[in-house]
Amino acid sequence: MPGFEVFGDEEKKEIMEVLETGILFRYEFGAQRNDVYKVLQFEKNFANYCGAGFAQAVTSGTAALKVALAALGVGPGDEVITQGFTFVATWEAILDIGAIPVFTEVDETLNMDPLDLKTKITDKTRCIIPVHMLGAMARIEEIVEIASSHNIPVLEDTAQAAGGRINGQHLGTFGQCGTFSFDSVKTMTTGEGGMIITNDEKMWRNMSEYHDHGHDHVINPGGRGGEGRSFIGFNYRMMELQGAMGIAQLAKLDSMISAQREHKSRLRKAASAIPGVKFRTLVDEAGDTATFFAFMMQSSDQCEKVNTVLADNGVAAINFSENTWHFYPSWEHLHKGSTLASSGYPFKEPGGKRRVVYDPDVLPRSADIMSRTLVYPVSIKMSEEQLQKMCAALELAANA
Ligand SMILES: *Cc1c(COP(=O)(O)O)cnc(C)c1O
Repeated sequence: MPGFEVFGDEEKKEIMEVLETGILFRYEFGAQRNDVYKVLQFEKNFANYCGAGFAQAVTSGTAALKVALAALGVGPGDEVITQGFTFVATWEAILDIGAIPVFTEVDETLNMDPLDLKTKITDKTRCIIPVHMLGAMARIEEIVEIASSHNIPVLEDTAQAAGGRINGQHLGTFGQCGTFSFDSVKTMTTGEGGMIITNDEKMWRNMSEYHDHGHDHVINPGGRGGEGRSFIGFNYRMMELQGAMGIAQLAKLDSMISAQREHKSRLRKAASAIPGVKFRTLVDEAGDTATFFAFMMQSSDQCEKVNTVLADNGVAAINFSENTWHFYPSWEHLHKGSTLASSGYPFKEPGGKRRVVYDPDVLPRSADIMSRTLVYPVSIKMSEEQLQKMCAALELAANA
């Protein structure tokens, strides 16, 4: 992470092609656009790259989750299961569509624990959202099997793992659909942007119309179709400049990942000296995008000691149990039910009755894992000097 490190002539060339037409919008203006359709091309390239049938570009990874949930028919009265270690966007989208998020434990993949998932499924569960956090895969095949046995669709939140694979198959193609983010810190970026991939043509058509105010996309996509509308929608349209960025960044994704993999393996080697250290479980090592390096100590005490040495040497690692954006017990606004709506929605029903109450202590196994895990973001252009500094600090920490 992140793709802005390699912003260069390729991105500028794609963007200039849009600026030369002056048409910044993905739909209409056929006469003026000189056949430049960057968002459409980006969708085709992205679907091809992932080996998916269809791709729908949107304005953000959060919008991608929302549009996918809408197309899966999720709404009020439904429960959606996700994991307690994710970015807040995953459950913001669930609440925004009117459903109630239910959180599972993570295991040492740092992703959804399939055993805990089984205990969280109820007759209200309408979707399961495993997240491929920190660049690497959830136990997605097991999760899809459990979900299928209950006839529940799986939406893969692949925001942090574009380009990740299991046995060559792209993350985002195991479930009913997969969503991606191209925001400022993601492995490939379009500034702001998102994508949904699926093999289900009907779902794709519904997403395409929903994200564009419900416009009938009989001729889809590229031009406006009939005047009718089949359902209400919203506006989550990506603009041409983002599509242009996406085309150039996608072409670089595999090379970004291989640079990260090289840097990560250096860090991993240095960290191996820490007594009792374990590495995050990777379902398929070869398909890791290596945007992060996560290593686990035997206890939270040891973890603290190690990180003190790293910090003293100017290379402190992230402990996600202290980070307020990614781990369930730290989401105070979720626990308090803080909302701008004067009715208290989505935490309260009209009339004031609580729809849901979240107890910060219900994920003890995740809390244990997080309290002894340290994480380094791995960037594409790490200098030799920086890498040597980090490796030296890890070796010192091994003797702490
Ligand atoms: C970044 C991210 C999102 C949201 O993406 P935006 O493009 O920032 O809206 C969703 N889920 C996860 C896991 C993320 O990391």
